[in-house]
Amino acid sequence: MMKNCKLRDERIIMDTLVDALRHETCPACGHHVAVPFLEPSLQPLATVAWPRSPSEAKSMRMLPLDFVRCVECGHVFNAAFDYSKVPYTRKPNLMFNKGMIWSGEIETVRRKILERLPEKPVVTEIGHGDGSFLLGLAMDRPEGTYIGFDPHGARRAEHPSVRFHAALFEAKRHLPEFRPDLIISRHVLEHLTNPLGFVQGLSFSAACVGGIFELYIEVPCIDRAVETTRSVDFYYEHNSQFTTLSFERMLGRCGVEIRTIGHIYDGEVIYAFVKLGCCREQVHTAREASLFRDRVRESEHMIAKQLDDLHKSGKKVAIWGGTGKSAAFVNHYQADAVRFPLVVDSDPNKVGTYVPGMGQEIRFRDWLKDHPADVIIIPPQWRAKDIMKEMIRHGIHAETVLIEHDGRLVDYVHDDHPYRL
Ligand SMILES: [Zn+2]
Repeated sequence: MMKNCKLRDERIIMDTLVDALRHETCPACGHHVAVPFLEPSLQPLATVAWPRSPSEAKSMRMLPLDFVRCVECGHVFNAAFDYSKVPYTRKPNLMFNKGMIWSGEIETVRRKILERLPEKPVVTEIGHGDGSFLLGLAMDRPEGTYIGFDPHGARRAEHPSVRFHAALFEAKRHLPEFRPDLIISRHVLEHLTNPLGFVQGLSFSAACVGGIFELYIEVPCIDRAVETTRSVDFYYEHNSQFTTLSFERMLGRCGVEIRTIGHIYDGEVIYAFVKLGCCREQVHTAREASLFRDRVRESEHMIAKQLDDLHKSGKKVAIWGGTGKSAAFVNHYQADAVRFPLVVDSDPNKVGTYVPGMGQEIRFRDWLKDHPADVIIIPPQWRAKDIMKEMIRHGIHAETVLIEHDGRLVDYVHDDHPYRL
């Protein structure tokens, strides 16, 4: 009896969880299934708004909190977050850095960083805020160069080795320009809509640029908040809340080598040193994509010229197929209805409709029995064999059948290609 009750209760819990399923993309690991984590509510901005009167405070805009949890990595995020609603441009995010224990922890982090750096390091910080962290490094090791990037951060540096740029860090430009020994990102990722994409982009750029680039990341960790049912961590500006697992999963998907990972501040903050750019295959794929695009661009000119020559030759041309790949061919190479009015299809269902974008009427293939074409172009190469057999079966003849192969139109019967009968 007890066993039956327990099974029934478990069944109900399982059904409830299934009902709770939300299709939301996890900003940390990219998984697409999440479940509600907190009841949805409305709250004003918590850290970047600085109301100057009770009435201003009470009339603040209410923003939606809809925190869900990724079932794959445990990351907690606000599914209703909209970055544009956080006015970083007007109100900088001033982090309180002066608490005694916190200051001590920051000093510990600084030491960890300095231990890894050469005598004259080049360090960049993405989102330097008030600039105090870079300044602290510069005071400890003044021979180095310290460059902060933050569109809304401190502008004037009070140390000759420190420079601040009121701009976003652009990996493509700034990695080769500064060749930093270390890139620092402290308490930035939890504010981003797509922290996974941010680190992936840095790593890919580092792989493309070449060289060894190390990144230090530091974010709040909500392990203890979850364990102890603490809800105050979940406010609008911190839309993306890392657990130890979600932080590791994110890094595991970024093409980086994790060198050190650990916690500070009683487990409330997690950090990692990672080597960027461990994703040579991605560079290979990107190069392949670039070559493909170049070759397609070249073939566009070639095939457009071949089509033009065909039209000028006065030969009667039919295009076999009016939708899908054939429609893509017609549009891609601008085989317009004036020069190439004849389009046929094997599928009677398509007859009487028109080629998307260009407007040729699609006729049934048997039209070619009474109105033979000199040249038939078959855009979908993989169907060419079938269509050739269909032509033979139904007594449809043409002087030449052309398919697209390797950047040009080739003769199906006489030229070399992999789609033979
Ligand atoms: Zn996740």
